[in-house]
Amino acid sequence: MTLRIEKVAIWYQNALEDGWKEDEDKNKGSNGKWIYFGESPTNTQLVGHIDMGRVGNVMVWLEDGLQIAVPTTYTSVKELVHRKNMCMECLDMNVETQRVGFAGRYCNTCATELRPKIEERGWAD
Ligand SMILES: [Zn+2]
Repeated sequence: MTLRIEKVAIWYQNALEDGWKEDEDKNKGSNGKWIYFGESPTNTQLVGHIDMGRVGNVMVWLEDGLQIAVPTTYTSVKELVHRKNMCMECLDMNVETQRVGFAGRYCNTCATELRPKIEERGWAD
């Protein structure tokens, strides 16, 4: 989710206030900030990447390794986890989702349409 830098800074701040932690090891020599919600960096419920470089960006992955459609303002861990059943393309809620590409989460309709575009020949090379 591309956002204004100021919005990303607030998202990041709200996540930390809600109990997310910085992944110190991953942040060494990294552009942007890796954060997680869970017991430890290797036992997480949610993983996030915050980019406040030239373009503001927030990405969040669930335990299943797939991304979610990130809300423009931070909501809560519960709400983010609930997005497991939300399509990143059409933003439909409470739908069955599946992986497309490395970590995309799409409904069956969007997955059928997007898979040929995202998973072009040699996409995983
Ligand atoms: Zn969809």
